[in-house]
Amino acid sequence: MSAKPRPRATEPDEEESPNAPPAVALEDLPGVGGAIADKLREAGYTDLMELAVASPGDVAEAAEIGTATAQKIISEARRQADVGGFESGVTLLERRQKLGRVTTGAKSLDDLLGGGVETQAITEFSGEFGTGKTQLAHQIAVNIQLPVDQGGLASETVYIDTESTFRPERIVDMAKGVGLDPQEVLGKIHIARAFNSNHQMLLVGKAQELARERPIRLIVVDSLTAHFRSEYVGRGELAPRQQLLNRHLHELLRFGTTYNAAIVVTNQVSARPDILFGDPTRPIGGNIVAHAATYRIYLRKSKPPKRIARLIDSPNLPEGEAVFSLTGEGIRE
Ligand code: ATP
Ligand code: MG
Repeated sequence: MSAKPRPRATEPDEEESPNAPPAVALEDLPGVGGAIADKLREAGYTDLMELAVASPGDVAEAAEIGTATAQKIISEARRQADVGGFESGVTLLERRQKLGRVTTGAKSLDDLLGGGVETQAITEFSGEFGTGKTQLAHQIAVNIQLPVDQGGLASETVYIDTESTFRPERIVDMAKGVGLDPQEVLGKIHIARAFNSNHQMLLVGKAQELARERPIRLIVVDSLTAHFRSEYVGRGELAPRQQLLNRHLHELLRFGTTYNAAIVVTNQVSARPDILFGDPTRPIGGNIVAHAATYRIYLRKSKPPKRIARLIDSPNLPEGEAVFSLTGEGIRE
């Protein structure tokens, strides 16, 4: 054991800023040399917190080291970042009291979500084409810029666009609709086009880098599943697809907890062969998405411009439905 005192991740009584730069470099962890630290950073593990909540398998793969070594590095990161032990109910309640909420623009839909889109959670909007998934993603990216007393978090967005359906013109319409300056709003949405599923996953790491400089409190992934679905076709590819999708979702959720950010993903639906009556479709991604997403909203068309949102599988809210409208100014009651 070295006698050298180890620096702490944060001073005990220091107010912790969600976007503060890491106080302890990866290189300071025992067993992590420069080469390993570089590989870890490349894979998106840029500070202690991210390592502390990683899985040994992922870290081993990223740094090309054994799982046992990876486990040791993770344990030390946990110790220094002060995470990983038991939390009392009080601490957990305190953490949950820091949860932020963003309005969708429609009170009915906010109510269905328990007060708006929540931070530290994944919210999924699924539904057929034209049901308003992309419109909702745009609207939330605008609304999060509003001050807290108007339903926002005065924060910025990373928007991962997999289908090239991001439209700055719609942002301009929606910004005007809530009384914000369109140019300023556009400046606070950081858009990346994901060319394939691998690139899509890498962009979450890029978002982490950006979150150190900018107050990013929302990641949008529109669409979560489209690339995975088109790249991994056929029975034999289902297992690897689900494994990668699972990892992607956990990296997103990790961002959400680290930065107290909301994660909004969209998802298409596919025909359900096992059902003859009732709703003939279901969201793609099966159990993996079902388990990772905290709030799942299923959208369907009603009399234009109305849409019906249904909350499915929520841990703490009753199932229910809400009606909202897609208007020129954006999402409205
Ligand atoms: P997909 O699965 O194809 O991606 P989606 O669920 O993302 O579909 P959106 O693009 O969000 O669908 O919704 C498209 C709908 O939004 C249009 O059919 C229209 O009803 C509405 N819409 C889009 N732009 C406007 C606008 N400028 N004014 C009014 N309504 C609009
Ligand atoms: Mg869309």
